Amino acid sequence: MAGTFTFTIIKPGAVSNEDIGPILNMINENGFHIAAMKLIKLRTAQAKKFYAVHSERPFYNDLIEFMTSGAILVAILEKDNAVEEYRKLIGNTDPLKAEEGTIRKKFAQSMQKNAVHGSDSDENAEIEASFFFSNSERFSIFDVSDF
Ligand code: GDP
Repeated sequence: MAGTFTFTIIKPGAVSNEDIGPILNMINENGFHIAAMKLIKLRTAQAKKFYAVHSERPFYNDLIEFMTSGAILVAILEKDNAVEEYRKLIGNTDPLKAEEGTIRKKFAQSMQKNAVHGSDSDENAEIEASFFFSNSERFSIFDVSDF
């Protein structure tokens, strides 16, 4: 269903800092349902594909190195208008510009180690969600036919 879900990553810095619990708590407190979730370690080829849109940017190699440096948590989050609502909750890419009360303001260590990823459109949410999860790993509150 368009607009009802987004895709997130809790990035290596936040995972190794034991921030998974507090970040998931903020996600739940802000009304998101966790429809899929797992801990994985990205291979370089996967990280390059996921961030292909940034391949010409000067920070690309550092970003790939960082995103493959440790475990990440990937998840699908459901809520009405999920993409926009979650971008609001995570805050600005640059933690120095992130608003009070946002995940990045609270947990980001730097522009690169900015704690979380959130999809920027409904189209990308579906591309990113299906990059990591099969249909049998997704549990939508909007579709009870699986149960
Ligand atoms: P997002 O949608 O807010 O995550 O931002 P982007 O899609 O523009 O960038 C993807 C990720 O690349 C960001 O979350 C950062 O981890 C990293 N990044 C973006 N811009 C910079 C930058 O100028 N320097 C560094 N070191 N990393 C950056």
